[in-house]
Amino acid sequence: MMIKNIVVIGAGTMGNGIAHIFAMKGFKVALVDLSQEVLDKALGTISKNLDRMVDKDRITLDDKVQTLLNINALTDLETACKDADLVVEAATENLDLKLKIFEKLDALAPENTILATNTSSISITKIAAITNRPEKVIGMHFMNPVPIMKLVEVIRGYATNDKVCERVMEMSKTLGKTPVEVNDYPGFVANRILMPMINEAIYTLYEGVAGVPEIDTVMKLGMAHPMGPLQLADFIGLDVCLSILQVLFNGFGNPKYAPCPLLVNMVTAGKLGRKSGEGFYKYTKGTKELVVSPIFRK
Ligand code: NAD
Repeated sequence: MMIKNIVVIGAGTMGNGIAHIFAMKGFKVALVDLSQEVLDKALGTISKNLDRMVDKDRITLDDKVQTLLNINALTDLETACKDADLVVEAATENLDLKLKIFEKLDALAPENTILATNTSSISITKIAAITNRPEKVIGMHFMNPVPIMKLVEVIRGYATNDKVCERVMEMSKTLGKTPVEVNDYPGFVANRILMPMINEAIYTLYEGVAGVPEIDTVMKLGMAHPMGPLQLADFIGLDVCLSILQVLFNGFGNPKYAPCPLLVNMVTAGKLGRKSGEGFYKYTKGTKELVVSPIFRK
């Protein structure tokens, strides 16, 4: 069976990027979210991102028009799933929500449809277990921003079969990405390594070893990271970082993954990073400034 029809669930940060790259490669994409308003916003974002690619001569204006024509944005999951060959779920990171979505997908999608999730940290095996086709459930973890980042972490659940894994690896290559196959344990590979580093950077600040710019500069210039760990945490979202650390902490039962109390406090105070306008830095109209706060005092 050729993969032709893709369903993307969730038209937020990740979902619109995932829809963009599939549609650009000629797949028919049904993009599903809860309201027309969110879908319109997502189409606007995709259109703007395609404009940037036209400006850089990476695609033509015709390619842009065809890409947008390949996307059907709708709120009705049943209609979207009718002819689906592959579903990529990119809805909000919440276990109960994802279980509900996968239960519905299992009932609505044809029996051969592959059901993939873009989750950052929820167990693929747990999501698969709610369906009657756990061998066809897999993790397809794209990185943000999807049109630019090369990696797809392909996560095999306990029951994912070889054929499904091979097809998802092949599909990722068709999208121009580099897939890497990993097994289903908390944080997979990417976040198991990245999040403890970010948490340690926050502990380093919390214990007064150094300030925000010093920590980020050491990691940028010393380790050739394109962004310091505190700026990266702001970019990912501090609530997202906290929830992934909680998955690692609960999943392994090891105190080394315990989220830093400063991170917990910042999330409780609504300082979520770039998306809320303030985290370790303050973000106003595209600029990034230091936050002068006694919390960060050495
Ligand atoms: P987001 O909040 O930007 O978007 C989530 C979207 O899902 C929203 O538009 C919301 O309306 C929609 N949604 C919620 N319930 C739905 C339902 N029942 N049906 C259809 N749509 C529904 O979130 P995001 O950052 O795009 O994250 C989406 C997924 O991707 C999460 O699982 C997250 O862990 C993962 N992820 C995020 C990043 C990142 O950097 N943001 C990176 C990799 C993976």
